[in-house]
Amino acid sequence: MTDCLFCRIVDGEIPADIVVESDDVIAFRDIAPKAPVHVLVVPRAHHANVAELADASPALLARMAQVAREVADAECGGEFRWIFNTGASAGQSVFHVHGHVLGGGELGWEPA
Ligand code: AMP
Repeated sequence: MTDCLFCRIVDGEIPADIVVESDDVIAFRDIAPKAPVHVLVVPRAHHANVAELADASPALLARMAQVAREVADAECGGEFRWIFNTGASAGQSVFHVHGHVLGGGELGWEPA
């Protein structure tokens, strides 16, 4: 989708600080990090959110989990929080599914 920011990053049209790249999933650093490690795990295929992805392709969601673990193993000792904001009221601003991998320190818990 040409109007989708993360599709454009996947296609290389917009630069990103990529930390994992594979055939089906990429991971890149969030431009406005909320933790010492803040990496976005993004499937190359466009799905609007995690619920739609789970319906359409559970295997791809599992691949995202593998990449999240890969990032966390490399950057925060394998311990991490994985967040999917789903819907505008939940804080989703980019409507191409992405899991936020947060870690690298003691994380607080203030979701609202
Ligand atoms: P969400 O609000 O859950 O949809 O998350 C979208 C995330 O994308 C936010 O944490 C933004 O900081 C991040 N973001 C927006 N534009 C970029 C970009 N060009 N490169 C990396 N991260 C971005």
